[in-house]
Amino acid sequence: MRLRHIKGAEQQIAESPYVIQDPAALKGRWNEQFGNDHPLEIEVGMGKGKFIMDLAAANPGINYLGIERYSSVLLRALQKRAELELPNIFFLCIDAAEMASYFAPGEVDRIYLNFSDPWPKDRHAKRRLTSPVFLQVYDSILKPDGLLEFKTDNRGLFEYSLESIPESGWNILDSTFDLHHSPMAEGNVMTEYETKFSSEGKLICKLVASRNQSF
Ligand code: SAM
Repeated sequence: MRLRHIKGAEQQIAESPYVIQDPAALKGRWNEQFGNDHPLEIEVGMGKGKFIMDLAAANPGINYLGIERYSSVLLRALQKRAELELPNIFFLCIDAAEMASYFAPGEVDRIYLNFSDPWPKDRHAKRRLTSPVFLQVYDSILKPDGLLEFKTDNRGLFEYSLESIPESGWNILDSTFDLHHSPMAEGNVMTEYETKFSSEGKLICKLVASRNQSF
C-alpha cells in the first residue's frame, strides 16, 4: 500500500490505547491483555484494517490482532477503530518478520494474509509473506492445528505460494482461483483491496493451509 507519510503518525500511534506499545512484554501472556482465554487470530499486513475489524465485530468470542508495519497506514485503521466499541481487537505496528519475538510457540490459532505485496522480482522473494522465511515464523507461533489463510488477486504470487507452502512442510487444505464463485466464498469477509480488485473484474484466489502433523 503506497501512502504518503503522515506528519505526527508515529506520535499518534505511540499514544493510542488501541496499539500495543510493548508487545514483547505480552509474549506468552496475550490472554491477559484480552482478559480471557479465547482463541487468538492475527492479520499480517492489515492495511486500513476493515477485514479484521469486521471479524472482531462478528466474533466476540475470538481475540484479534492486526499487524501493520507502516505508521501512516495504521493511522487510517485507528481512525476507524475509534468509532467502534470492540473489546477484542488491538493493533501492532511491527514488521511481521519479528513476530516470533512477540508470540510464544503455539500461542496463535490462525493467521490471515490478505493481498500481501507480491514482490515479483526473484531477488525480493524473501520479502513475500508466503516465502519459507515467513512460513518458519508462522510455524513458530501457531498452534499445531493452527491455520494460515491467504487471499490475493495476484496469480503469480498465488502460484508461487501453492509451491512454497507445501515445500515448507505445510498441507494446502483447500484452494481456489476464483473465491467469489467457489464453495469457499461462504462466510467470506471482504478486505479493502478485495472490494477494489473484484469491482475491477479481477478474480480472487484463496488457500487455507496447516502444518503437516506427525501421527
Ligand atoms: N490486507 C489489506 C487488504 O487486503 O485490504 C491491505 C493489503 S496491502 C496491499 C498490504 C499491507 O501489508 C500494506 O499495508 C503493507 O504495509 C503491509 N505489510 C507488508 N509486509 C509487511 C510486513 N512484513 N509486516 C507488516 N506489514 C506488512
